Amino acid sequence: MAESRAGSGFRVVYLRSSDEIEKIRQSSRIVAQTLQRMADMIEPGVTTRQLDIEAEKFIRSQGAVPSFKGLYGFPASLCVSVDSEVVHGIPRDRPLESGQIVGIDVGALKDGYHGDHARTFAVGVVDDDRIRLMQSTKECLDLGVKAAVAGATIGDIGRAVQTHAEEAGYGVVRELVGHGIGAQLHEEPQVPNYGNPGEGPLLQQGMCLALEPMINMGTADIVTEEDGWTVKTADGLPSAHFEHTIVITAYGPEVLTQYE
Ligand code: MG
Repeated sequence: MAESRAGSGFRVVYLRSSDEIEKIRQSSRIVAQTLQRMADMIEPGVTTRQLDIEAEKFIRSQGAVPSFKGLYGFPASLCVSVDSEVVHGIPRDRPLESGQIVGIDVGALKDGYHGDHARTFAVGVVDDDRIRLMQSTKECLDLGVKAAVAGATIGDIGRAVQTHAEEAGYGVVRELVGHGIGAQLHEEPQVPNYGNPGEGPLLQQGMCLALEPMINMGTADIVTEEDGWTVKTADGLPSAHFEHTIVITAYGPEVLTQYE
């Protein structure tokens, strides 16, 4: 789940102990496995509520609880965002249709620590423009992760993501950002998907971050639906979202939400 850019007041940046990192790793593995299950379920005709029910069942079967359910009043375990929905879509009795892309975002809390993970999937047969958008957004995430090394800054991550997206002609959502993660789902520092090299908080060993580019096929502008949650593109064009929870180690960034 993305954080509002306007969101935070003063909070501490935590450097996590190896014990804490193990717990974040455990929760991250659960959300990675959850999304693998979603990948197997996604096809034309399945409703986004069915996905939500299955995801919650799996998370609880692992001795964890869904991080999002009840967080700021969010009513479900998954955020499910279809086509022009950017993030924070609420699961409903709405069947997915061939040609759509669907972003699934999930968090899990176990032993006091969270993992947060999102992928965008194709439903049935999807056009080349949507495939390219998904591919490029995944590349943005990978480049952001690569930039997340001790001694670099939050701005270096943002610049890596922004450059790749804008070179493809896409819009980078600015009002919502990635975040530190640990005992709270949203911790310091905020991780924008834009920025300048060398600016922002210093990246240090032991920081756990959720990186999550939200990339629009058209302009960067977004609007929030009347439900108070669903964020959509202002121009109605599709948007994609990928997210990993990572830890910065002495040897570089390590992705904790891997499933292969
Ligand atoms: Mg998140």
